Amino acid sequence: MKKKWLIGNWKMHGNLASNKALIESLRAELPQPDERATMVVCPAFPYLFQLAELTKDYGVGIGVQNVSDHLQGAYTGETSPLMVKELGGSYAIIGHSERRQYQGENDGLMGRKALAAIDAGLIPVICVGETAEERDSGRTHEVLGRQLDAAFGYIRTAHDKIILAYEPRWAIGTGIAATPEIVQTEHEFLRQRIAIRDKEFAAKLPIIYGGSVKVSNANAIFSMPDVDGGLIGSAALNAREFVTIYRAM
Ligand code: PGA
Repeated sequence: MKKKWLIGNWKMHGNLASNKALIESLRAELPQPDERATMVVCPAFPYLFQLAELTKDYGVGIGVQNVSDHLQGAYTGETSPLMVKELGGSYAIIGHSERRQYQGENDGLMGRKALAAIDAGLIPVICVGETAEERDSGRTHEVLGRQLDAAFGYIRTAHDKIILAYEPRWAIGTGIAATPEIVQTEHEFLRQRIAIRDKEFAAKLPIIYGGSVKVSNANAIFSMPDVDGGLIGSAALNAREFVTIYRAM
C-alpha cells in the first residue's frame, strides 16, 4: 500500500506553553504514529527548535511554513533551508496560497524555493491551487498547469523527496472543503500532467489535499484513489481532531 501523509500547518498560531500542551495532547491521543502514515507538524519559525526537542522520541516529522530561495547570504529577514535542517526540520511548505496572497509570492519564486529546500535536504511540500474566480471562469486546469510547470520545470529529484499539495484557495480556512469528486479530478489532472515528464515518478509522487479538511469529511476525501493524505490547517490545532483525521486515512 502507498504511504500516506498528514501534515499540520499551524500557521501563525501558538506559543511555548500552548505548543507543549498540543504535543502532550497529541501523544496522549496517539502514543506513536504507525507505519501507514507519516505525521508532520509545521510550527512558526521561532518554535522549530522547541518542537524538535518536544518530539525527539515521538515519530512525528517537523516542518516549516516557508523558506528562503537562497541557502546563505545578505537576505535580511529570511530563513535558509539549511538553518531549518540544522534545527531539526525535515519539511518545508512552499507556495502556500496565503503567501501568494499576502506576501506576493509568485510561481517563479515557488520553484526556486522548492529547489533550495531540496538542495538543503528538506522535503518541499509544494502547494498549488486555484481561486474561486479562476474556477468559476473555467480556468482551473490552466492555473494548476502553470503553477505545476513553474515548480516542477527544473526540479530533478526522486518521488520520495517531494510532496505536492492541491489546495484550492476557496477551500482554505472557509470551512467549505472541495468535494471528494473535485479533489479526485484535480489530483488526477496533476498526476497526468506530471506523467507527461515521467510516468513512474508521477505514479509514486504523494499528492495530498488541503482546504477545510475536518473530522466529518476526512474519510470521504482520503478514500479517493489519487489522494495520498492531507495538509491540515485549523483542525491541526486540536489534538483530538488531528488524530481522528489521521485515523481516517
Ligand atoms: P484549513 O487550512 O485546513 O484551515 O482550511 C489548510 C491550509 O491552509 O493548508
